[in-house]
Amino acid sequence: MEISDVAGDIESVLLTEERIRERIAELCREIEAEDAATTDGTPLLLVGVLKGAVMVMADLARELRIPVQMDWMAVSSYGSSTQSSGVVRILKDLDAELAGRRVLIVEDILDSGLTLSWLVENLRSRGPASVRVCTLLRKPEAVKIRVDVQHCGFDIPNEFVIGYGLDYAERYRNLRDVAVLAPHVYA
Ligand code: 5GP
Ligand code: MG
Ligand code: MG
Repeated sequence: MEISDVAGDIESVLLTEERIRERIAELCREIEAEDAATTDGTPLLLVGVLKGAVMVMADLARELRIPVQMDWMAVSSYGSSTQSSGVVRILKDLDAELAGRRVLIVEDILDSGLTLSWLVENLRSRGPASVRVCTLLRKPEAVKIRVDVQHCGFDIPNEFVIGYGLDYAERYRNLRDVAVLAPHVYA
């Protein structure tokens, strides 16, 4: 879906499809270099967080020039639709065993950091060789809870964004770009 298909709902376009593609390629070169330094010959395990990370996972995985395995987790953080509470529940767990694996969490956005800090600890407790984090977007609030992020696509302003996997009420995930939602949509 293009911006023009939902123009009335959009305040501004933050990141175009092209800009996202360029940045993901840069992130992939970082990830490849890091993996080359730590590899034990097994594929890097990408853990995508459903549903927001679907697009970034698909593009990142295809751009990477190293073998990877993809697995998915679904978690829900209780709270309102635009703010998370930090109470996290697993809705769908991983299929893969993590013991000894090099894990890279792939996230769409780091906001308060509550979800991701919980997830990193949860995966660490399963005995992986390493747990690292790649997030496409990071908001300023993310500094409140410390989460070590090895690969970050873009630092963005503290506004509610949609598109490229990110939703409002399950809509706009299929928008190609990342945009700021017009306040009248959720008012
Ligand atoms: P955190 O726990 O870091 O505050 O929130 C992480 C989750 O909240 C993200 O994975 C995402 O689902 C949701 N979220 C946070 N900020 C935004 C935003 O600006 N837009 C959308 N669509 N979701 C967001
Ligand atoms: Mg997410
Ligand atoms: Mg959401």
